[in-house]
Amino acid sequence: MTSTASPSGSTAELEALLIQRSLSDRELQAAAEAAPDYRILPDATVIKIGGQSIIDRGRSAVYPLVEEIASARKDHKLLIGTGAGTRARHLYSIAAGLNLPAGVLAQLGASVADQNAAMLGQLLAKYGISAVDGAGLAAVPLYLAEVNGVIFSGMPPYKMWIRPARESVIPPYRTDAGCFLVAEQFGCKAMVYVKDENGLYTGNPKTDKHATFIPEISVDEMKAKGLHDSILEFPMLDLLKTARHVRQVQVINGLVPGNLTRALAGEHVGTLITAS
Ligand code: ADP
Ligand code: MG
Repeated sequence: MTSTASPSGSTAELEALLIQRSLSDRELQAAAEAAPDYRILPDATVIKIGGQSIIDRGRSAVYPLVEEIASARKDHKLLIGTGAGTRARHLYSIAAGLNLPAGVLAQLGASVADQNAAMLGQLLAKYGISAVDGAGLAAVPLYLAEVNGVIFSGMPPYKMWIRPARESVIPPYRTDAGCFLVAEQFGCKAMVYVKDENGLYTGNPKTDKHATFIPEISVDEMKAKGLHDSILEFPMLDLLKTARHVRQVQVINGLVPGNLTRALAGEHVGTLITAS
């Protein structure tokens, strides 16, 4: 390896370490950290449209959000991820009953998030907003530059290579995690989860009528209260805690008209979950 890219000492030091050491060597990792953080899409916001909580409700939930997205993108660059929902749960129950592994279930779940992205793409087509395969990079910056919005399927593409959970074959990293990782890797300015409750409660508001609303909470507080597996997929909390760029997410009620617009404007309309 020759050092042509940069005359800086740290690059040369990193190169030397990379050739000699284990890639998990501490000194090597520290040298790799020396570069300043860089945000790829700092002006974009990722919004996740819930599968079960929004899309499965059909027209009454989805049409108003489509209108809100269409007008919000005049002022905001939106990466719109989709959840999976009830069809995925049905598939998981059949496939788990057949004792198929997490890697197969991850692909089945992804196909449902794909279906939701395809439907949302058709609904937003007249505004020039399209669904793309894989939010990787590809044409995403171009879509954002041209029409301020793009739709992607929220499931992370781990497929057969998903890290299985010890407890079950249900893939632990699903669309909440997939959308968050897109926001974090691109260094986006915000991550908003659009679901069907006002945010986080002390218990599931669908089954616990004494549950009270929590406007803001940290990852550690959520774990301490036993709420780690509630409104967001549980591995999300650790992803958020170790994030470099996206240090808080907001969960909002997308069934309330105007909430998405307000959240995009930086207002606190749901629950803020913070890394620390
Ligand atoms: P998505 O559609 O994005 O996958 P989910 O349906 O998986 O969303 O998650 C949202 C649901 O989480 C809510 O509709 C609510 O019933 C449930 N939930 C469970 N525990 C809680 C809690 N403590 N606070 C708020 N919602 C909760
Ligand atoms: Mg979910």
